[in-house]
Amino acid sequence: MKADLKTDWTVRDICEGFMYDRALDKGLYGLNGKLTIQPEYQRNYIYDSNGKDVKVIESLLKGYPLGLIYFVKTGEDKYEVLDGQQRITSIGRFVKTTYPFSVPDIDGNPRYFDSLHEEEQEKILNTELTIYVCEGTAQEIDEWFKIINIAGVELNEQERLNASYYGPFTTLARKEYSNTNNANMEKWRTYIKGDPKRQEILHCALDWVSNHDIAGYMSEHRNDNNITDLKNHFDSVIDWINSLFDYTDKEVKGLPWGDYYRKYHNNAYDRVKLNNDVLKLMGDPYVHDKKNIFEYLLSGSNRTELLDVRYFDDNVKRTKYTQQTEQAKIKGISNCPYCAIGNDNNKAKIWKFEEMDADHVTAWSKGGSTDIDNCQMLCQTHNRAKGNK
Ligand SMILES: [Zn+2]
Repeated sequence: MKADLKTDWTVRDICEGFMYDRALDKGLYGLNGKLTIQPEYQRNYIYDSNGKDVKVIESLLKGYPLGLIYFVKTGEDKYEVLDGQQRITSIGRFVKTTYPFSVPDIDGNPRYFDSLHEEEQEKILNTELTIYVCEGTAQEIDEWFKIINIAGVELNEQERLNASYYGPFTTLARKEYSNTNNANMEKWRTYIKGDPKRQEILHCALDWVSNHDIAGYMSEHRNDNNITDLKNHFDSVIDWINSLFDYTDKEVKGLPWGDYYRKYHNNAYDRVKLNNDVLKLMGDPYVHDKKNIFEYLLSGSNRTELLDVRYFDDNVKRTKYTQQTEQAKIKGISNCPYCAIGNDNNKAKIWKFEEMDADHVTAWSKGGSTDIDNCQMLCQTHNRAKGNK
């Protein structure tokens, strides 16, 4: 990684030939066409929604430093903004008045660039920016992104990866999965957590197709002129979910559907039964981990531990403990019914409440109810032994 410090590029230079296409939300250029301000890996422009664009202009007017800006050198006298896109876009929009915004004066009146005093305009235009121009491999740029802190929001993992593996594949993949106007976006976001503008839908699509090796996949496909493989795999997963489950409430969002698909998509399921079971388990107050219901059902409805079933509450356990212990003392046997029928030293042992656990006489997974009649207290050894069967 090579980084040259440049301090002689002014706002005037950077804004030369500034272009901003709001409709496409991309394609910003500066430095007389030599600088791509919004390359495909950068997030979309979000400064105008949180007032940071105004802060940038106020900083320039007051002579405050804007912080470091990073460019990556992509060719002979060609650059892309690695970090600083939001700041440069704010400046370009203000100065070139393509999509003008105003900054308030002391009295709160709006001031546009055109309405500033000439000295103020010159002050802004002559401000020299502090820019590092970097050259390096994809890995080096990724490392760089991990280290630098952005004045604003830190780049997330996928934004860094898009930066490191910029090229035709990333451009096409972003067009498909980072575009909020995509007609399928709402359907996808039922199952995938995150913001397409922050590259989180793309991140998930790549995670699924690569089986968690996103960097490896992006590296391999970097120069592809299509995203067929990515798209086919993604569509297969989504179609598979839709072919099985009707349920679309919040519990399905963010589940590792890519892993489920890999493990279970060759299995046959009874769709009607599957959906009845989902509703039954969603409504079961003893099923604590609702998100795991899908994997529980897909994996054959026997890994009860996935559901974190909370069987009996403390009152039920105490009542049962008292009943069992009173009976056991009368008979001179252990209050653990399994110990009582054994032949060792614990045959007549009275366990303390803390030393016992509640057990379903008829297992929950076999339809046993969770009321006191189906509850028995066992010593921990016997409860564990029974649970392992
Ligand atoms: Zn026992």
